[in-house]
Amino acid sequence: MTPLRIVVIGGGMAAARLAERLGGRSDVSLTILGEERHVPYNRALLIAALCRPSLLSSLALHTQRWFDSRNVDLRIGVRAVSIDRRRQNVVLHNGMQVPYDALVLATGAIPVVPLISGARGCRDYRIGTIWRIRDVQRLRAMVRHARRIAVIGGGALGVEVAAALAGRCGQVALIHDAPQLLNSLANAAVSAATAEQLRRHGVEIHLGRPVREVRRRANELTLIVSGGTAIDVDGVVLAAGARPATRLAAAAKLEVDEAGVVVTDTFASPDDPNIFAIGDCAATGSRGQALAAWRHADALAEVFGAAPGGRTYVPVATLRVRAPGVDLLAVGRWQAGASVLLDDAARRTYAHLTVEEGRLVGGILFGDTRRAGRLLHAASRPWSAVSVSSLLFESTARMPAPRDDDLACVCRGVPVGEVRRLIRAGCAVDEICRQTGAASGCGSCRTLLQALIDEGAADAEPACRGVDAAQAHR
Ligand SMILES: Cc1cc2nc3c(=O)[nH]c(=O)nc-3n(C[C@H](O)[C@H](O)[C@H](O)COP(=O)(O)OP(=O)(O)OC[C@H]3O[C@@H](n4cnc5c(N)ncnc54)[C@H](O)[C@@H]3O)c2cc1C
Repeated sequence: MTPLRIVVIGGGMAAARLAERLGGRSDVSLTILGEERHVPYNRALLIAALCRPSLLSSLALHTQRWFDSRNVDLRIGVRAVSIDRRRQNVVLHNGMQVPYDALVLATGAIPVVPLISGARGCRDYRIGTIWRIRDVQRLRAMVRHARRIAVIGGGALGVEVAAALAGRCGQVALIHDAPQLLNSLANAAVSAATAEQLRRHGVEIHLGRPVREVRRRANELTLIVSGGTAIDVDGVVLAAGARPATRLAAAAKLEVDEAGVVVTDTFASPDDPNIFAIGDCAATGSRGQALAAWRHADALAEVFGAAPGGRTYVPVATLRVRAPGVDLLAVGRWQAGASVLLDDAARRTYAHLTVEEGRLVGGILFGDTRRAGRLLHAASRPWSAVSVSSLLFESTARMPAPRDDDLACVCRGVPVGEVRRLIRAGCAVDEICRQTGAASGCGSCRTLLQALIDEGAADAEPACRGVDAAQAHR
């Protein structure tokens, strides 16, 4: 039987997952075309790598040898420039053509460059976004000599970048057009606490002040913010959000909208049954969530005949803001349903939990994220019926030990039972990670794996993206 030629455009997180599910099958020939000069890597850890350069070399989700061993034709440094739907060919920047039977768009998202005079369209290495490994490398080089760097955008990314830069260059100015930081994510108290912590770490914060203009001179940049204030800086990081990368799809006359490439429930384009879109470029309403990109890949692999993963839990969105003194974790459907707010301003801890039909479906924890594991457990396994009161008030010591089918690593869907089996076989953390893929997502479960080894399973909670991630990565 001739293998089905599946070509993936984009060598990012979704593509890597698809390779895990489809690589090595005799009925599939899988080709991945990635324009970055790196094997697929964990983009969600880029800011952590800004703080810890050694992490940069371990972001890869798999090695080139791993792809080779599964007969996945991974081509890096290769950009797809057009899709010839009639001939079922992808045209590359060098004129080469790659024929397909099924084409998967996994082109991710593109950081938005805000409409600021002097910032758009300029080729000035001092002004840039942070989205790729090469951006981290550029920023690290710039930071060494900079006296002051401005971060434009006070959402999760901007806050994380500002915190990562604080103490690494002379001064950091965080400029946000809204009156509070993290305004689309957190309530006023959390925003104020975040701002306070950043200020303590020396970050200068300008709120409600959109940047109007960037004036460029030989050695200096000046930002003009609304009201006319001028801020002199040596470099600018733009952290103003992202939009789906849909240019190729639109040029091939596939339906796209602001949310991405329009897809059916099997991730196919309604305009072409041979073209699919997954991850950040697909209009599924889950852009910016690595876990969602992986779930798309899992579901699409099943469309191509892969056996179901067999791990049953509800994929949940998680967002972590990791910054010194700022510990914020948003889990599940934190903006849905009715909410319960526990606000302990004296201790600077907040829990904002969302409940639907009597079930905990998500929430935001700030300051004290020790119960994050249980919150994640509740959101990803609604049938487990964790109540709000048990989540908040039960001592962690009295909480039941994780069951074998709880998740140790949520990113990779590794059950606690699998980890316990490896611990019994004498494996240390690195070996467990190698064998199961745990900790190759956000990496935060390394601390749980160590706890399972050190203390036995009884005291450990199901891990989640984010628990002690800051410690794990710094
Ligand atoms: C700094 C940062 C921090 C993040 N933190 C988190 C987090 O804490 N939690 C979380 O869940 N998510 C986080 N995310 C989002 C997460 O990384 C994305 O949701 C995830 O990477 C999406 O996977 P993807 O495969 O769709 O896209 P990507 O991983 O972005 O991969 C797309 C790839 O396609 C390539 N490409 C595009 N066009 C072409 C073309 N024409 N030809 C060839 N290649 C092409 C791109 O260069 C890119 O390499 C973060 C993202 C960033 C940038």
